Amino acid sequence: MAERMFNQEPMVVPAVQTKFRRIATKIPVPESLPILRDLALYEPRSMGGQPPVIWDRAEGVNVFDPYGNMWLDFSSGVLVANAGHAHPQIVEAISREARKGFLHNYCFPSKIRARLAKRLAGLLPEPLKKVFLLTTGAEAVECVIKLARAYGAKKGGPNKRYFITFQNAFHGRTLGAQLAGGIADLKGWIGQGDFGFAQVPFPDGFRVADTGFDLFLRSLKDLSIAPDTVAAVMSETYQGGGACFMPVEYAKNLRRWCSENDALLIFDEVQAGFGRTGTMFGFEHYGVVPDLICLGKGITSSLPLSAVVGPPDVMDVFEVRKMTSTHSGNPVCAAAALASIDVIVSRRLHENAREMGALMHARLSELRRRWPSRVGAVHGKGLVAGVHVVRDGALEPDGNLAFDVVEACLRKGLLMFAPVGLAGATIKIAPPLVITPDAVEEGCAVLAEAFDEVVGRRDAR
Ligand code: PMP
Repeated sequence: MAERMFNQEPMVVPAVQTKFRRIATKIPVPESLPILRDLALYEPRSMGGQPPVIWDRAEGVNVFDPYGNMWLDFSSGVLVANAGHAHPQIVEAISREARKGFLHNYCFPSKIRARLAKRLAGLLPEPLKKVFLLTTGAEAVECVIKLARAYGAKKGGPNKRYFITFQNAFHGRTLGAQLAGGIADLKGWIGQGDFGFAQVPFPDGFRVADTGFDLFLRSLKDLSIAPDTVAAVMSETYQGGGACFMPVEYAKNLRRWCSENDALLIFDEVQAGFGRTGTMFGFEHYGVVPDLICLGKGITSSLPLSAVVGPPDVMDVFEVRKMTSTHSGNPVCAAAALASIDVIVSRRLHENAREMGALMHARLSELRRRWPSRVGAVHGKGLVAGVHVVRDGALEPDGNLAFDVVEACLRKGLLMFAPVGLAGATIKIAPPLVITPDAVEEGCAVLAEAFDEVVGRRDAR
């Protein structure tokens, strides 16, 4: 499907005024058009697919524009604001660090970097005890690729280089991250060549009905990849595109297979970490411990910071000064991370995610029962869900319907998105973990209303 653009012509929409939503203008807001035009003029076209809502401020589960409108945010700003938007403790921690006059320190040690590395190591089980701080999720992914290749070569020589990932996976937009990604549409720019990356089917139990581990073994065989040439297997803890988890049994078999074949098991927890799925880290659902993890997004609930965590023998594979970064452990970002972790831990937001997630998934199951021919499956755990929108009860994804529903919600004061991959046909729902039952109910009711309207409109045609 060609990428759809949100309507840029101001439209009269029904006024909305509730505790969580306020729509009092045309959408998009006429006064916002010059800003949207400047962005279209001065930024690459690729940035143009965003909903035409000008963010001015956000607080808790709400996003405000400068024109008096307020949205209930079912996106967490793409799964970042786990502790809620602009949590006062995080705002204070950032301000304190900035007021102190400590904005940057490059390769000089700092107290706050040490505190954050120790705090993250303390949250994770053995042997995940060494922490490398970076800036973006994609950068953390690049780093695990580098570590896995170097560690593989050290253990098994230059042939131990294959980096196995999963079809439909998303790991970021940089070269390594897109080689590891499993969305063919995003990788065309890379060109051909044997880069040592290969993808196997992800056992989502929906589009890939066979969830047995034999499928992994058969796929490697079909790709002519010998187990002893595999340096690492990496998966998103749940696939972000559809909020799909692998079966626990599959994860346990994968853990065993990696250990037996001296391959690192890596979970990309950039989306799944910090309480999102009802546990502090998503991999806890599988009852296995990976060799490396990538963290990002919800780690600060705000500023850009990411991390790779692993055991000393892997994390120390590079010599002194061979794996560093200009912004590693930036003090303001580190302050945000420490504060965000404190909020999540002290308010037990992972537990709230579990409880509110149960309510949210119950409502989404009702939506599925109401529209069995349009909602093929609802995946996810805790406060992340993927509503898989399909055509006529078959598996064929219906990206147009998903897009129309997301746009209808936007006009009603509810923010969410449909990620790339799976033809843009999964409506992703991921509210901040501070959400309350009344906000879950209201958002799910708006989604159902939007679904009814959009499907009704189509069927009337
Ligand atoms: N890994 C996963 C699982 C992600 O969801 C994303 C971002 N959506 C990334 C990596 C890349 O993160 P970033 O955009 O911060 O580079």
